[in-house]
Amino acid sequence: MCTEEGANLQRGMNFHLKGRHSVILMSLRPGAPYSDRVEENGKVLIYEGHDIPFHKGGPDPKSVDQAEYNPGGSLTQNGLFYEAAKKHKQGVKAPELVKVYEKIRSGVWVYNGLFKLVDAWKEESNARKVFKFKLELLPSSSLASRANIQKIDHIRLIPTSVKLEVWKRDKGRCVICGSQDNLHFDHIIPYSRGGSSLVAENVQILCARHNLEKRDKIV
Ligand SMILES: [Zn+2]
Repeated sequence: MCTEEGANLQRGMNFHLKGRHSVILMSLRPGAPYSDRVEENGKVLIYEGHDIPFHKGGPDPKSVDQAEYNPGGSLTQNGLFYEAAKKHKQGVKAPELVKVYEKIRSGVWVYNGLFKLVDAWKEESNARKVFKFKLELLPSSSLASRANIQKIDHIRLIPTSVKLEVWKRDKGRCVICGSQDNLHFDHIIPYSRGGSSLVAENVQILCARHNLEKRDKIV
C-alpha cells in the first residue's frame, strides 16, 4: 500500500513520520472500526482518534476512553496529534501536514491527498471520550508550488462509492502503465475546469508518476 512512505504502515495514525509529515489511514466503509467522515463537499475530513490497544484480560477498547497518554506518561498518537492541533490553534506552530490513505475495500488502500491538521477536540461517544481531528484538504504539491491558489476552492475528495466503481472498471491499475502501486484517483477533466468528482465517467486511476505528469501538463 504505502511503499511511498518507505514503511509498511501497520498503525492507523502515524505522527510526524521520519520528521516530515504524518500519515493516517481512514475508512468510510460500513463496519469500519472508527467513524471517520467527510464534510463540506469533500474538503474537510473529521477523523476519529484511536482506542487503547487490546490486551488479553484487559478492558474492551471500545468501552473505555481513548487515551491521550501511554501508561508510561508519553503521548499516544491521539495525544501527539492533539498537541499539534492545539499549538497550531494558538499560533505557535504551522499546521501538521498529514497524508491520508483510504481503505476502499479489503486490502485496497488509495491515496486521498495531503491535508493540514487544523483542529482537535474530545467528545462523548457511547458514554466514553473519543478524540476528533479536523483536517483540510490541500492542493497537490505540484499545484501548490505554482501558487495556483484559486484552485483550492475546487479541490474535493471523490466519494468512496465513485472510487469503488472506478476501481472495478480500471481493474485497480494505472490506466496508462498498468502499475498497481501508489495509485491515485484522477479527475479526467479537472475540477478547476468544471469536471465533476461525482461521476465515475470523469474519474480514472493513475499511478503517482502519471498523475504528476498529467498535472504538470495541465497547469
Ligand atoms: Zn502509470
